[in-house]
Amino acid sequence: MEQRLARGRRGILFVFTGASGVGKGSLRAAAADALRTVTYSVSATTRARRPAETDGVDYHFLERSAFEEMVARGEFLEHADYVGDLYGTPAAPVDTALAAGRDVLLEIELAGARQVKAARPEAVMIFIAPPSLAELERRLRGRGTDSEAKIQRRLARARDEIAALREFDYLIVNDRLEAAAETLRAVLAAERARAWRVSDAEIDGFLAS
Ligand code: 5GP
Repeated sequence: MEQRLARGRRGILFVFTGASGVGKGSLRAAAADALRTVTYSVSATTRARRPAETDGVDYHFLERSAFEEMVARGEFLEHADYVGDLYGTPAAPVDTALAAGRDVLLEIELAGARQVKAARPEAVMIFIAPPSLAELERRLRGRGTDSEAKIQRRLARARDEIAALREFDYLIVNDRLEAAAETLRAVLAAERARAWRVSDAEIDGFLAS
């Protein structure tokens, strides 16, 4: 059979980090065409479900005790406390998808992103920033789901995350949604085209064909 290059690679682990309210969900929807083949990792969290959210789709909503049991069993790729609630990425679905050659997207905050980068240095780290702090505050308030105290804590956390921007590989400023989606498509395409992702074994197989 005719041998083709870059068919046998492992999936790519993409990490999205950016303040809550920055529009990560809207950006994913705007770039849905490019993300069609990407497996979205559904996180576990102890935070209360918002009315628009579905258990098992947006998050796995867990009691704190159940979450802590998963931590104790070592089932998370990363986990972190964010503004008083626990969030974590179950490792097994991520590893299954990557081994099958499917790209995976994690949407996680900074502490978790750092854990992923330490454990998986080949992960592609993408930072999603708001056009301004004032705009972020407007979006958080507009959502109407958080108390004033929570909004203030989320804003403080957003400032800390932006200060760590240079730890990331790519920056996407979510100002105009379509422009941000175009940048994301370009990042996905460039990362998929990286030569080092083709294994030696695959090159040998290609040359021997
Ligand atoms: P929200 O409560 O607004 O859904 O999420 C709050 C923050 O937690 C966001 O920055 C979101 O990206 C992050 N987050 C969601 N899932 C995870 C996860 O599995 N691990 C970590 N570390 N952060 C997460």
